[in-house]
Amino acid sequence: MTDGQVEMDEGRRRYEFKKALERLEAKQGAGTELITLYIPPDKQIYDVTAQLRDEFGQCANIKSKQTRSNVQAAISSILARLKYYKRPPELGMAVFCGTVHRGGDKYDLECQIVEPPEPIGMYMYRCSSTFELEPLRAMLEEKYVYGLLVLDRREAYWGFLRGARIEPIAGATSTVPGKQRKGGQSAVRFSRLREIAINEFYTKVGERSSAAFMTEKDFFVRFKGVLIGGPSPTKEEFEAGNYLHHEVQKRVIGLFDVAYTNESGLPELVDAAQDALRGVEVMKEKASMQRFLRELVKEDGLASYGEESVRKNLEIGAVDVLLLSSGLREVRQKLRCEACGYATERTVRAKPGETTGDVETGACPSCSSPLALDEESDIIDELTSFADQSSAKVEIISDDFEEGSILMTAFGGIAAILRYRTGY
Ligand code: ZN
Repeated sequence: MTDGQVEMDEGRRRYEFKKALERLEAKQGAGTELITLYIPPDKQIYDVTAQLRDEFGQCANIKSKQTRSNVQAAISSILARLKYYKRPPELGMAVFCGTVHRGGDKYDLECQIVEPPEPIGMYMYRCSSTFELEPLRAMLEEKYVYGLLVLDRREAYWGFLRGARIEPIAGATSTVPGKQRKGGQSAVRFSRLREIAINEFYTKVGERSSAAFMTEKDFFVRFKGVLIGGPSPTKEEFEAGNYLHHEVQKRVIGLFDVAYTNESGLPELVDAAQDALRGVEVMKEKASMQRFLRELVKEDGLASYGEESVRKNLEIGAVDVLLLSSGLREVRQKLRCEACGYATERTVRAKPGETTGDVETGACPSCSSPLALDEESDIIDELTSFADQSSAKVEIISDDFEEGSILMTAFGGIAAILRYRTGY
């Protein structure tokens, strides 16, 4: 397997998981009757079924007859599915089951089992009017988190880097006197006072930023390291002085020159640290987007964007890297005329959790019989297999960092870096 395929699988897996969550998020029950069940990998299935039978018995207390019978139907449906499991899957499982609103006054019993990308940590049974998705949502967050700290002797600011997203936390300013002493002060005494003030400021910054970094949940697992930025020799002096908590201090990745030491210094620090961060998934996404934007502004650059133009370039095999936004929610439909055989394709927007089967298909342009929907697929699936035919690399770009959101808002979520220039 090539590197490109590995990258693709990871971005793709996250995209699929995110879409599944969006679909579940949209489901509503008429009453408190949607069941969420989280089963960790080490839980015995017979313990789960015993509790479900118990819950079934307690349904007798539910006043509304309809809610009662819906909850009981959901529990029975889960029990029937659990019969196929001797033990939970390797990472555990999440079960979502209940009578959900289908639009209008239509309701249907629906049951879905999700195998998570990370192990489920706790057992949970919940009955509510929506599904409980928080534990799965937490898995969507970037796996690795970095601490960012910029400082000089007068001010400091710190925050997190989550994936490609910067999250500012807080800052501090010092009362360190400037280099110019007032008349009448002894030079030795002045520089001694100044040193004390600098030391106090570094201590405060070290303590407060360390405390903030260490509030990160699963600090020891997720927190990959700290980047320190600032002018020389401040950052070197701060790092050498061990002002950070020792668990944070030993995770210092590197020191980088930046001009700003307020909130604006954080993105500057991330840019300066690009080389050190290479290898992190989202940094690759950022690098691809920057490459695309550089090509775009060149006189004869190798950039293409918008669905139509990118499709034409894919058709002739001119695409090197296909960039697709994870914010894309569209489907590609193949339409056919049963009467004369006329066929066409089109792209339509799709809301998560909704099928587009009932969308108006229109009339055949050659014989005016109604067109029928022949085939429908997610646009990311469809464009990916199109790209595979000419061995173009595919990258799914998340939309939670600056260049990533530009792909969605300015270029409709579809862009490409070309192998050579074309007329499209
Ligand atoms: Zn026709």
